[in-house]
Amino acid sequence: MRGVASLLFLIGLRLTAGPAADLSRQIRETGLDREQCYRVRDLTLVKEDIRVYLGDGYLIFGKPVAGQPFLAVFTADLEGGDGEVLLLPPTRAERRSLAGYIGSPNLDEHFQSAVFIFTGDIYTRLMAQLPDNPANHRAPEMGALLDERWSPLLHNIADGYNTRLTLDLLNRVANPPDLFTAIFRSTKLGTFDVIYDPDSADQIALGQLVDRNNRAFFDIWTHFPSRRARTGAARARVRWDLSDYRIQATVDPDLTLTAVTRLKMKSSIDGIRALPFDIAQEMAVAGVTVDGKPAEVLQHEAARVGTARGENTQFLVTPPEPLHPGHDYEFEFHHSGKVIVETGDRIYYVTARGNWYPSIGTVAASFDLTFRYPRDLELVTAGDVIEDRTEGPWRITRRRPSAPIGLAGFNLGNYAHARVERGEYVVDVCANRSLEPSLQPRPQLPPASPVLVPGRRNSRAALDMPQTPPAPPPADPLARLSRLADDVASALQFMASKFGPPTLSHLTVSPIPGTFGQGFPGMIYLSTRSYVNPAETRMAAADALFFDELLQAHETAHQWWGGLVYSASYRDDWLMEALANYSALLFLEKSRGARDLEMLLDNYRAALLEKSQSGQPVDAAGPLVLGTRLESSLEPRAWRVITYGKGSWILHMLRQRMGDSRFFAMLAETVKRFGRRAISTEGFRGLAAQFLPPDGEDKQLEDFFDQWVYGTGVPTLKMSYTLKGKAPALRLVGTLTQSDVGENFSVLTPVEIQLARGQNLTEWVRSASDPVTFTVALRQAPLKVTLDPHYAVLRR
Ligand SMILES: [Zn+2]
Repeated sequence: MRGVASLLFLIGLRLTAGPAADLSRQIRETGLDREQCYRVRDLTLVKEDIRVYLGDGYLIFGKPVAGQPFLAVFTADLEGGDGEVLLLPPTRAERRSLAGYIGSPNLDEHFQSAVFIFTGDIYTRLMAQLPDNPANHRAPEMGALLDERWSPLLHNIADGYNTRLTLDLLNRVANPPDLFTAIFRSTKLGTFDVIYDPDSADQIALGQLVDRNNRAFFDIWTHFPSRRARTGAARARVRWDLSDYRIQATVDPDLTLTAVTRLKMKSSIDGIRALPFDIAQEMAVAGVTVDGKPAEVLQHEAARVGTARGENTQFLVTPPEPLHPGHDYEFEFHHSGKVIVETGDRIYYVTARGNWYPSIGTVAASFDLTFRYPRDLELVTAGDVIEDRTEGPWRITRRRPSAPIGLAGFNLGNYAHARVERGEYVVDVCANRSLEPSLQPRPQLPPASPVLVPGRRNSRAALDMPQTPPAPPPADPLARLSRLADDVASALQFMASKFGPPTLSHLTVSPIPGTFGQGFPGMIYLSTRSYVNPAETRMAAADALFFDELLQAHETAHQWWGGLVYSASYRDDWLMEALANYSALLFLEKSRGARDLEMLLDNYRAALLEKSQSGQPVDAAGPLVLGTRLESSLEPRAWRVITYGKGSWILHMLRQRMGDSRFFAMLAETVKRFGRRAISTEGFRGLAAQFLPPDGEDKQLEDFFDQWVYGTGVPTLKMSYTLKGKAPALRLVGTLTQSDVGENFSVLTPVEIQLARGQNLTEWVRSASDPVTFTVALRQAPLKVTLDPHYAVLRR
């Protein structure tokens, strides 16, 4: 059946008529133009910060599409042939990132061949240079050879860029395109890509596709705003504002989801002919109308193959008329696909949680959602229930969130419920009635190396790892249901008391098979593991704490961090995760005590200091602001360990600098000032600085952020002291020594001096690469002097 369906879809695509399909077909069918092959010397190609020299070789262009070629190949495969590419990242952080991959802070690389793809004036600029050197001439005989050698590869490359090239060419009048991408092959670095994309926030990217341990990574070596953007001279990017989502969806008994999505849209630029929408690869878009008139849809089957479940793909919509600013267009999409999978006995997994409907980026919008589904199932989503009825074999539920939300998820199953009302908040926890196969008890062996968590009180480890394993009771997916509802309600109430009200006052928690959670506004997907008692699944103690305590509080915290305050870019995503995780730690501290918080901080530090293959600690993989770029082939663990672990440490360190009341006031102010807005790392630094105690140093937190957020390194700190003089004119003379970090590393560290009668004195001392001496005048001899007793500094 599957094969038939996709075949029909392909035929459907071929029959699609319209300007987008026409261009797309030309792009796919294009090849090299044998007549447009040249022997070339000393051509230069400059695109913003990218400099390419075609020193000596052959250059061949593709056949024109819409009047001009969009691809070219250069080969230096001849005696004395040469090409060279240069790129200098503008910031120290980006130079450091590049050096981590290629061993040099600048790219200056000789290459054997290059493929260029472009929608700007590259062709004209190269052709204009040909007469400069009398040795340049047409070489059609070489053209035939190159055509044969390069065509199969070029078809693959052009297919990958097909949607983007089509979009650029369709919008070329309203939004003159200027994409430039080059794929180089060099002896030293292998194959690598350089991209200039004027429609991206950071226009220049340099990276490489790498296969490591059967996993594909796209390592981004460097990524930064182009020269023109840095000087504020880049043109405004096209913006499409989406609002007022109305979705009517049907879940068939075979779990196919068929939906009609209606939304309003405004364009920022006049004369736009085509728009790029994102949707999960499982979703096929059958038709779109704009203001009631049919629009052309271009969705490539090729782009949908080879992507993981739930991953986004782009499709183009070409309205019958170009769009004008100021007008609210009504878009209607008809789409369907298998975004729900049954994993076991009526247990379901939604693969496309945030992208089962079309969108362009993520913006907060109002939603009105109606689902029709088999009446023996239950379907949950965010928002107040407007309508809930049955009709024959169907159940129909309509929901409307009371405020705009950035993502609308849904979940379904055969649920048992626990509902808790606390003040104005309602928490509804749904649980599967049966256990998914992966959580069912298996024949058990004693664990080979138990993971022991130091300092854990009330340790379930004892239950978890008995010497002689008794037969386990069958894990009960409802075991923790009412406790879970209480926990989530307590977390929600605690956080609301600190940060202010969340986006929606009704929160639905529903299970998802797997080992992760996801927090959407009004809706949390919680790992099925969090529903069963850890003893029943024989989880290691650290895992137990994570699934038992932390995960639901973390996802609850996303009601604020991500649900109400958004991150400005991937460089600021760490803030959402760090704030969500630290909010969960704050709740844990309140409900279970400070020792659990410290134990988790210990675990995070241990993970940051674990050695990578390179021999460096995981922390050295890069600073927090690299975001998902940290999940590279160099150290796949780095993104998770640094984002959650170091991110939590950074908030804890800020808290120690500020003191509790200032710290909590700062968190509340972040929500107040950035509610329904995006926050950047710099915006957060500026806000946090306003909550520092008035008498400290580093008043703008610039040193703190340079060290911890924009930099790497975990120092070893040691303190010694002597007492000089006699009471009441005593002097404490101390020395603070720092090691295991770079020359410029320096942190403010508290030294706590315990005096008689419970009086404590805290002296903040700044470390440096050389030992630092400090003096404190005392009236009496101290009982105890301790360096950083309360986890104020991330250190070894
Ligand atoms: Zn999270």
